[in-house]
Amino acid sequence: MKYQAPRGTQDLLPEDAPRWRYVEQMFRQTCADFGYEEVRTPVFESTDLFVRAVGEHTDIVSKEMYSVSAHGSEADERRERLTLRPEGTAPALRAYLQHNLGAKSPLTRLFYVAPNFRHERPQSGRLRQHHQTGIEALGSEDPALDAEVITLGLTYLRRVGITGARLEVNSVGCPECRPVYRERLRAALESRIGTMCENCRRRYDTNPLRILDCKAEDWSVLEAVVPDLADCLCEPCAQHFAHVQAVLQVLDVPYERNPRLVRGLDYYVRTSFEIVHPQLGAQSTVLGGGRYDGLMEELGGPPTPGIGFGCGIERVLLACEALEVAFPLEAVRPVFVVTLGEAARLPGLRLLNDLRQAGIAAQADYLGRSMKAQMRAANRVGARTVLLLGENELAAGAIAVKDMETGAQESCPLSDVVGRMRGRKDEG
Ligand SMILES: [Zn+2]
Ligand SMILES: [Zn+2]
Repeated sequence: MKYQAPRGTQDLLPEDAPRWRYVEQMFRQTCADFGYEEVRTPVFESTDLFVRAVGEHTDIVSKEMYSVSAHGSEADERRERLTLRPEGTAPALRAYLQHNLGAKSPLTRLFYVAPNFRHERPQSGRLRQHHQTGIEALGSEDPALDAEVITLGLTYLRRVGITGARLEVNSVGCPECRPVYRERLRAALESRIGTMCENCRRRYDTNPLRILDCKAEDWSVLEAVVPDLADCLCEPCAQHFAHVQAVLQVLDVPYERNPRLVRGLDYYVRTSFEIVHPQLGAQSTVLGGGRYDGLMEELGGPPTPGIGFGCGIERVLLACEALEVAFPLEAVRPVFVVTLGEAARLPGLRLLNDLRQAGIAAQADYLGRSMKAQMRAANRVGARTVLLLGENELAAGAIAVKDMETGAQESCPLSDVVGRMRGRKDEG
């Protein structure tokens, strides 16, 4: 085969599409129930937006972005460089600022369904284009909003059919208290960092909190060595976290505190959460999010607290597969028009089009095949009813209506058949 989909990407084929549509529909429905409205932003943005929001020293910005120059190969100024979106929060916030959504309503609730692009190593099973559902709630630091965002995520996954998931929460503090923790963590690890993995040795200087979620370390030993973030939170952060937990309790949402739960990106503050499924092994995180109160200012906007989550559609589908979730997918059962002989061909096409115009799913054979082959095709597409049009029927101004389930066949005036099919459709 000469052409293949690029490495790390995959095609969505007709046989897969109904499951994707189902998952997306559950997400959209849940967002609507919680009052979140859709935002669609471009697939690419100014490179600088992501450098600013995500951080220059992150893996995403330093290694994983797909950037292009808007003017060809010249080394243009950075503001003229464009990047395929590696994550969804920065574009949503950019749109919020550009269109001054905060002026329309002090609390803005947004959701999106969009692809993300990262230059990952495909051998690790990661996709270079993956699809994300996400929400952002902007304009309030009320801990109840954190609980709302978390509840929306849980509701969505439950509606998809993922049961037995576990909610893990943590607080990663704020620019006031996190530096204190960072120094305590460095001090605690000082004598050990030399024996830790390469990533951790680098993170020790740049972003020691990320050491906490390193999968390469032996946490059965390290757990006792590292200090707990909770002991370092400033009073406002501690109170905020306590309130988030109190609201979750009122809403009967079970959770566990995971003291090593930190989000991958620097802009997160305070509430951090993940929904994990214990049966999914190494890829157990299905959904993750957190609060990013300083990000809007970082992007040049007014102080606007925010919280959100992202959730990969591929990850949700993998989880559903692993958990053997059966989707209640409804198959379209078309009417199939079978014609016999040349004379019936054009009236058959006319009937096919009339059915479709009336909103009735209808198909026909375009290969000029025998009646037997046409009937087989009708079976293959799951037709519930076959309309047979031959010379005899034409002469009588009628059509034979065959019920594919019972095998019963009756004659119907050609002029009535669309109405009759519509009636059957309404019966379901
Ligand atoms: Zn704090
Ligand atoms: Zn490590």
